[in-house]
Amino acid sequence: METGKKEIIRKCQGCAKTADREDFIKITLNNGKLYINPTSKILGRSLYVCKNAQCIKNLIKKKRIAGALKFKNFEEIQTVEAELLKLV
Ligand SMILES: [Zn+2]
Repeated sequence: METGKKEIIRKCQGCAKTADREDFIKITLNNGKLYINPTSKILGRSLYVCKNAQCIKNLIKKKRIAGALKFKNFEEIQTVEAELLKLV
């Protein structure tokens, strides 16, 4: 049944492909902090990136966390970027 809710399009910020949530790592900004958010329990502005090193490197190179989340705490961004690289 149509609920009127818009379906969320999830797009990788590294390669711009769309896919299901299970294929992506979700990063969420909540209360001024960034979280890698695999269970979506943390609410907030979020972005997605494929679970592969190339996409994560693209994300970092293009500064997509700052851009997509409008977030300017670069120390915090670097911490999360380092964590992302450990996941793949
Ligand atoms: Zn990707």
